[in-house]
Amino acid sequence: MIPSILPTYNRAPLSFVKGEGAWLIEADGRRFLDLGAGIAVNALGHAHPALVAALTEQAGKLWHTSNLYQIPAQQELADRLVEATFADTVFFTNSGTESCELAIKMARKHFFDAGQPERTDIVAFEGSFHGRSSAGIAAAGSEKMTKGFGPLLPGFKHLPWGDHDALHAAIDDDTAAILIEPVQGEGGIRPLPDQCLKGLRDLCDERGILLILDEVQCGVGRTGRLFAHEWAGITPDIMMVAKGIGGGFPLGAVLATESAAAGMGAGTHGSTYGGNPLGCAVGCAVMDHVATPEFLAEVNRKAGFMRQRLEGLVAAHPDIFTGVRGLGLMLGLTCKVANTDVVKAGYDTLVATVPAADNVIRLLPPLTITEGEIAEAVTRLDAAATTLETA
Ligand SMILES: *Cc1c(COP(=O)(O)O)cnc(C)c1O
Repeated sequence: MIPSILPTYNRAPLSFVKGEGAWLIEADGRRFLDLGAGIAVNALGHAHPALVAALTEQAGKLWHTSNLYQIPAQQELADRLVEATFADTVFFTNSGTESCELAIKMARKHFFDAGQPERTDIVAFEGSFHGRSSAGIAAAGSEKMTKGFGPLLPGFKHLPWGDHDALHAAIDDDTAAILIEPVQGEGGIRPLPDQCLKGLRDLCDERGILLILDEVQCGVGRTGRLFAHEWAGITPDIMMVAKGIGGGFPLGAVLATESAAAGMGAGTHGSTYGGNPLGCAVGCAVMDHVATPEFLAEVNRKAGFMRQRLEGLVAAHPDIFTGVRGLGLMLGLTCKVANTDVVKAGYDTLVATVPAADNVIRLLPPLTITEGEIAEAVTRLDAAATTLETA
């Protein structure tokens, strides 16, 4: 008999009932260190007082009006994102996959209005993840996500990650945009080298196409910059955001330059809930904290500490781990044993991690995690690795 919840997930037998900062409390009272943060969502940890205050204050005033009207909190958040980034304009969504939908629509409309309606193709990369909508799975293109769901949205080309020649050859007169994650998340925490991101920007400029960055997972302070592309010193034309921007409240956004967004006038796109007062009030509170040089400097400092501890962990358990990779507090441990076994062993030692492709476990702690908590988390991972060695 089919379960009352559609069985699309492989869930761990854990029920968390409360969260405090970097800690998750199980129904039975056990306290887990959370190195998953709801998959890079709870950027400020659980139950951050400023986020609780922003949400409850707004909840007592007004939840929803629709985009038929002005929404002051939405205006404020848009202004702040424009102020803090390359973008001239913002559309709010409720999730990453909705941001993907608009990013693709926007790129196509840009060229349609520019008198190049044949430019509809999006060049994307193997191992990428852009969400589970029809556009999102077509964009990622992996058989795992697309099989059985055809016919797929046409117009995507998939290239091996890091193959420059294939990339140059793939761009033609029908190409509208290149779509890429600056750090692949689901794909196994693979940062794109700065040089490659710069090269992609140059290539887009040369060929007159748009660069769409998917910063749904790597954005909002995760890598130690407000957005990951800042490390490479380049800017995209369109950027997808979600996850961390809402700190746990469903909120996403598409940020764009004026030129890229030029075709998106009244009636071209919409969302009932996108940019609702609750989400935007929380988003403003997230920006208050994350979008400051002091906060980002702390992320970088803690990231350095965590990376060093993880190198030690890998060295101590060469039969379990093969290396550390990632950027900022978006880290991955490549595993020698099945990554899902490492995640399970971590549950037994009360540390939550997230598996990813390429046999990696992801470590995406709340950006507010303390050094002491990082040290404790690595101690717990060490205990988990020891149990696997003696198993
Ligand atoms: C999670 C994720 C998405 C999809 O976001 P949802 O909110 O789950 O729809 C898209 N792109 C990347 C890089 C992601 O990590």
